[in-house]
Amino acid sequence: MTENLVIVGGGQAAAQAIASLRALGFPGRIVLIGEEPVPPYQRPPLSKKYLSGEWGLDRVLLKADAFYAEMKVETRLASRAEAIDRQAGRVRAGSESFPYDKLLIATGSRVRRLACPGAELPGIHHLRTLSDVDAIRPALTAGARLAVIGGGYIGLEVAAVAKGLGCAVTVIEMGERCLNRVVAPQVSAFFETVHRQAGVEIAVNARVTACEGKGRLERIVCASGRAIEADVAVVGIGILPNQEIAQQAGLAVDNGIMVDEFALTSDPAIAAAGDCANFPSALYGRRIRLESVQNAIEQGKAAAAALAGRPARYHDVPWFWSDQYDLKLQIAGLNQGYDRVVVRGDMGARKFAAFYLKAGRLIAVDAVNAPAEYMTCLKQLIPAGAEIAPERLADMSVSMKEIAASTR
Ligand code: FAD
Repeated sequence: MTENLVIVGGGQAAAQAIASLRALGFPGRIVLIGEEPVPPYQRPPLSKKYLSGEWGLDRVLLKADAFYAEMKVETRLASRAEAIDRQAGRVRAGSESFPYDKLLIATGSRVRRLACPGAELPGIHHLRTLSDVDAIRPALTAGARLAVIGGGYIGLEVAAVAKGLGCAVTVIEMGERCLNRVVAPQVSAFFETVHRQAGVEIAVNARVTACEGKGRLERIVCASGRAIEADVAVVGIGILPNQEIAQQAGLAVDNGIMVDEFALTSDPAIAAAGDCANFPSALYGRRIRLESVQNAIEQGKAAAAALAGRPARYHDVPWFWSDQYDLKLQIAGLNQGYDRVVVRGDMGARKFAAFYLKAGRLIAVDAVNAPAEYMTCLKQLIPAGAEIAPERLADMSVSMKEIAASTR
């Protein structure tokens, strides 16, 4: 009898799972239910080259249309899965109901929305989907006054692109520094300097309390009373996992859908992968939920393997990147709990690495235009939990190859 496999959510993790399922020889019927009207696409360009207009839709789609036919996948796009009936083994989406033997939940996440008076005024945008960008891009004309609310990666990437398009940009950050949740103070200071040098205004310790305007956005008011004139605003204040469909089906959720190291939920017929999944990390000894392409791909592979009956542990080192101006920031590992930061290279020359150590062991790196530092940490030093003398890490006369060799 043909096995039925349903995938709820049509993003990065779903596209990977389809390719992996077929590569593993899964012979059954695969149905992909995706809420957006387009097949799975990459989100990173949405705040980078798709936003700037350098890339078109063809560059962001993860697979050509022919892929889904070749993989014998039935796609239901612009279709939202509303409920999972685990007893009956069915997923309901609109007027249709799909039987499943195996189910993958890859519903990703949604933006945290700005909540203050005036937050719904025309001219205020959030950024998660292609259609969000299609609405933002026409507003980013030379001379337009853009307020970016939230100084995280997405906010800073939008600021860099908008500056390149000739906008007057102000970044409004509630915390005391940009990127405050994710990098060390010296790395935040570096990025703030770069943006200020490019002509971006950065307002920190600035909490938005209201958006004002007659019929559309004219200004943003902060708790201090300061009003920032703006024609358009892009909000990037974090995301929330799309876990409700799993929760309603009685699956365990806690900041994401709880899965094991094989990406299986509390129901072994159901896997979850990507932004929506909360998993145990052997490397960090705790549960984590990641919001990255690497995680969507690797966990998508693990979910496919588990559902195809060939379980494989997911234990990769997390990695992430951000492009701003001429800077390629590459991050390996998670820095939470670090007790020391060592900088190697020259921040002034826009080429350096910040290593994060915990009890002497390397746990993460932020590498700016420094691919050797990034790759050595990702592939060798972080998985090994290497103990390296800080002076040696900082010493540019010792190559990363030599550092790696001496820690083996
Ligand atoms: P998604 O790609 O979000 O896909 C989930 C899909 O499921 C969505 O289309 C959603 O509409 C759909 N869905 C949800 N619920 C339902 C339902 N009930 N029924 C049907 N469909 C449903 N990561 C990096 O590593 N590097 C970067 O530089 C980077 N830049 C980014 C820039 C932006 C602007 C954004 C938004 C994200 C960025 N990310 C980056 C994060 C990365 O894109 C995500 O982590 C990744 O897309 C997660 O993949 P996913 O498959 O879990 O979820």
